[in-house]
Amino acid sequence: MSNYYEDGDAYIALHYGENNKEYLRAVVPPIYMNSLHTFARIEDYYNVPQGAYLYGRYNNPTVEIVERKIAALEQGKRAFLYASGMAAATAAVMAVCRSGDHVVCVHNAYGPLQSFLIDYCSKDLDITVTFVRGDSMEELRKAVQDNTSLMILETPGSATFSLVDLKEVARLARENHIVTYVDNSYCSPEFQKPLTLGIDMVMHSTTKYLGGHSDLIGGVLVTSHEGLMGRLGQQRPWFGGIMGPMEAWLLMRGLRTLHVRMKHHEETALEIARSLEKNPRVRKVYYPGLESHPQYELAKRQQTGSSGLLSFEVNASPAKAVQVINRLRVFQIGPSWGGFESLAIMPLLKNTDEYAQWYGASRGIIRIHCGLEGAGVLLKDIEQALEIIS
Ligand SMILES: *Cc1c(COP(=O)(O)O)cnc(C)c1O
Repeated sequence: MSNYYEDGDAYIALHYGENNKEYLRAVVPPIYMNSLHTFARIEDYYNVPQGAYLYGRYNNPTVEIVERKIAALEQGKRAFLYASGMAAATAAVMAVCRSGDHVVCVHNAYGPLQSFLIDYCSKDLDITVTFVRGDSMEELRKAVQDNTSLMILETPGSATFSLVDLKEVARLARENHIVTYVDNSYCSPEFQKPLTLGIDMVMHSTTKYLGGHSDLIGGVLVTSHEGLMGRLGQQRPWFGGIMGPMEAWLLMRGLRTLHVRMKHHEETALEIARSLEKNPRVRKVYYPGLESHPQYELAKRQQTGSSGLLSFEVNASPAKAVQVINRLRVFQIGPSWGGFESLAIMPLLKNTDEYAQWYGASRGIIRIHCGLEGAGVLLKDIEQALEIIS
């Protein structure tokens, strides 16, 4: 098990972290669907070694198998699974920030996390926040204050898929003793490993690609930072947000096909992005895998691929874009992404034109997740929907 990096990510997802001898040599580890573990003697109960199984809010054998796999995939020392991506994200903020601290956060971070920072941390905990675009080192340098303790990054960011130069930001943060956090849900460890670029903490909504089947809600934090590992390990039982064994088992099943799924999502998305770029009814395509992406060079440098999520704007008004999305048949309208099914949404439709402009897009932007149906049927679906534009 020690040379797992050489065995590759597919091996890690399939076999690493399991000990089949412990479970009757069953090829698939069981779901330890229990809330507690028992002891032969009261003395044993009062002398449980650190990390041994005791109570399900602390740890669980099935959960730990998956934590070992995800830590190895991200090349980190320790992973902590949570009941949702938001439970993981808020746990990260609570582990790092104290009252009086300052946080730098990218403008396109996950919406509910922004709301947590603005409506709770700022208002009630006296933790201030500066939002940045994240694509300029000068802007990031200016945003840093004496009391900045955390940088919240997401790259590529949702909707417009702008990138953050992780190596450069990690260096800036180190110089200023700031902890760096990256939401890696878009790439998954298949296409990006932020810890290897100097980032302190990686977060995933495992609801997305890691789960991959739209049948679980979950989150994870991965780190090799000693202080953070201690703090997260101490705080998770307080807040009580550990992932349940059933979800962990489903997540383990999802992970086994991560490698093949991501390749397929990418191939499909790239084919669709390239085709949309040539379509006269489409004004703009946002996808980090396209040569026309303004940060394509950076994408090639820090990612080994791009996933199935992309956006485009039609050559017409937002009202017309609404008609286009409503004509889609294979793509279903719904939140989330990362599963087998193709989805579409208009992330900025309910915002003002001014906000959309600041965000770097128009209110009519359509975000699609290319599922596993295949590029042919998906492209045909989009093309028939676009026919409403003359
Ligand atoms: C969905 C999502 C989250 C939140 O995860 P939940 O599992 O829904 O709590 C965070 N970040 C990104 C990028 C997401 O897409």
